[in-house]
Amino acid sequence: MSELVQLGRSAKPLPTTGSGCNRTIWSRKGDAQIKLRSQNGKLADRSKGELVHQTATGMQSCPPSCPFLRNGCYREHGRVALNINDRLEHGTSARSAAIGEAACIDAAPATTRDGRPIHMRVHVGGDTLAPWVPIVAAAVSRYVDRSGFERNGRALTWGYTHVLDVERPAWGPDISILASVQHAREIQQARDRGFAAAIVVNEVPSARGFHDESTGEFILPCPVQSGGARSCISCGLCLRDQYLYDNGITIAFAAHGATRKVANALKGN
Ligand code: SF4
Repeated sequence: MSELVQLGRSAKPLPTTGSGCNRTIWSRKGDAQIKLRSQNGKLADRSKGELVHQTATGMQSCPPSCPFLRNGCYREHGRVALNINDRLEHGTSARSAAIGEAACIDAAPATTRDGRPIHMRVHVGGDTLAPWVPIVAAAVSRYVDRSGFERNGRALTWGYTHVLDVERPAWGPDISILASVQHAREIQQARDRGFAAAIVVNEVPSARGFHDESTGEFILPCPVQSGGARSCISCGLCLRDQYLYDNGITIAFAAHGATRKVANALKGN
């Protein structure tokens, strides 16, 4: 096991806030957290028994190339922002945040008391820069091993990355991870790195999917946003990145507010 991968382990219990089932576990430096059984209803519908943990890291873990960084990133607004405790420390390094995120994942229960695997959405806020992906990916694999989840084409854990210099295999087989792109012409670039893609769009011509006019790429609007699903867990598309990749499907998210302004600027609208 590489030194990088071992860095994710933590000997002493990590600090927590909240209590019982609604605890948040923090990295020692406060630069990463895992919110257990998140209340984020977009990710999981708790009334249906769906459960999800969500991790977040400080902005130092984000690639400087991301146009939404401190400029309309969805973590700063609305429902997602409400579900990230913004006491996250933004001043440490991207490496420290990755080590902290891995330690938080290692400290999280991977199953319910009756043994049901719990889904995990990786870095709802933040990202993992290429050199530190093995640290977080190894923690994800340990989590999936602990859960007893049967790998069957649909992952137990999922997330998105804006990092441009990482190849899909670096994240390993235990997570479904999509490359976030800003323009349809970047979808093929993501595919060349082995990723299925997700894109922010201004207009959604059809909730059933459409072809981008300039590239011909098939784009499918997020079913929760278009009213076709209650939660990510019931939808499951982003939990199947290999399926999306094999079928040339890109997931689209409709931009709102500040994110929309940035998306408009990027697309020259
Ligand atoms: S496409 Fe499905 S899994 Fe992906 S973000 Fe939308 S609801 Fe969640």
